[in-house]
Amino acid sequence: MGLNNPLKIVMLAAEASPFAKVGGLGDVIGSLPAALGNLGEKVSVIIPAYRMVLSGSFDLHPCGKVSGFDVPMKSDSAYASVYQTRFERTDVDIYLIESPRYFDRSGIYTDSETGDEYPDSMERYVFFMKSALELLPRLEQPVDILHCHDSHTSLIPGLLKINHRADPFYAGTRTLLTIHNIAYQGIYSKESLDYAGIDSSHFFPMSPFEYWGKVNFLKAGIELADKVNTVSRTYSMEIRTSPEFGMGMEEVLRRREDDISGIINGIDCNEWNPETDPLIPACYSIHDLSGKAECKKQLLQYFGMPQLPGRVPLIGIVSRLTDQKGFDLIQEAVGEITNLDLQLVVLGTGQPQYHSLFRQLASKYPQKIAARFSFDNALAHRIEAGSDMFLMPSRFEPCGLNQLYSFRYGTVPVVRATGGLADTVVPYGSGSGTGFSFSGYSSSEMMIAIRQALTVYSDPARWRALQIRIMSQDWSWDKPAREYVQLYRSIHL
Ligand code: ADP
Repeated sequence: MGLNNPLKIVMLAAEASPFAKVGGLGDVIGSLPAALGNLGEKVSVIIPAYRMVLSGSFDLHPCGKVSGFDVPMKSDSAYASVYQTRFERTDVDIYLIESPRYFDRSGIYTDSETGDEYPDSMERYVFFMKSALELLPRLEQPVDILHCHDSHTSLIPGLLKINHRADPFYAGTRTLLTIHNIAYQGIYSKESLDYAGIDSSHFFPMSPFEYWGKVNFLKAGIELADKVNTVSRTYSMEIRTSPEFGMGMEEVLRRREDDISGIINGIDCNEWNPETDPLIPACYSIHDLSGKAECKKQLLQYFGMPQLPGRVPLIGIVSRLTDQKGFDLIQEAVGEITNLDLQLVVLGTGQPQYHSLFRQLASKYPQKIAARFSFDNALAHRIEAGSDMFLMPSRFEPCGLNQLYSFRYGTVPVVRATGGLADTVVPYGSGSGTGFSFSGYSSSEMMIAIRQALTVYSDPARWRALQIRIMSQDWSWDKPAREYVQLYRSIHL
């Protein structure tokens, strides 16, 4: 596919692993481009040059073709400098847009000291989008597909249609918007259009740029992109059919029903591979899981927890600590959880209420519950490797990646069957089960799934068979990347 006539695809996003990552978006932008490259397509990526990128140990250099340019921002302007490098072991170029005013900060979206979102998010990402559209013609490489991701880049289809309408460089360019999480829509005052350079005549009731008297970047993208997709089939249906999931976008999505699809995320099977992972204390494979026992032992030691007598499972959680992820269910069920023979380790950062919840639980039940509140990729790998089960009781989950990493590491997911979790975890008991799941968002249903997992865990032969089944699945990008190519080709001129 693609080899004779490669598509020229540019991805625009706020994150790309390993340069800058907060959640699954970063993983996807860090791995999908290489998979598309393997299929013969020509992909490059543009992200902001946050402080953590510039001060990290990446081999960045100033972009040879374009050193920088001024970008008008309302009545003012800001200078964009351009850096460039490649994703390791690939021929995927990544361009990084620097601006001391907008990106030289300790965090990506939020102030790492206070946890608060930066008050000028709108300006930051409008600047990023306009800079990216200014950069591409200067690079003199034609673009077939601009692949936008989430609200930080979802004004791009509108900017193309309005500000770059007459630009011959973009005459053959089509747009795809991928929604990774509809909860973050980028809703700002009407003034944001002044920053974007979009005339206020475009702001009127029911126009793509108007949403209850404000401007909603995601809505504008949904209305104006040539196609839209989300990161699982179930989530693509949930957000169209229920206000609980669609968060005000259901009607807008329904209007574009024929242009919306769901493509499940793949994973980077080099980074997440227990046979070669340099971040875990002992490697292991489907044929010999002895290294996993060593990983568990060292993980318990790291968290200062004892190895309890008998066959006691360790449950892992690695997550943003937000309402989306279902921690209120754990809070509700804590009495029951701590009465069971199990241990729980948590890694995450997010809402202060969940930091204090897990801090309190860890100090009340030091033998059973431990937590770390940081962003720590190496520890995330060690938790995947050292845990027996992985808990994701999400209220909603567009795709979810940790259940897929868990599969690779022989760590059995216990999940709420929503969005991508419903599409990837087959409930145990069906013969081909790959995890334990529950449907209703309730702590009692969650506890039924956890108890079922404990029952199977207590039988080593059944557990081993389950581990073999989950480890032998293929969740690589191979299939989803082919689906993206089909989608690109369906809009390509
Ligand atoms: P979301 O994008 O909603 O946060 P996903 O499951 O799609 O959820 O992806 C989360 C990604 O972020 C995974 O790679 C997970 O390991 C990682 N992650 C989340 N929190 C942390 C953390 N505190 N430290 C390290 N990695 C984390």
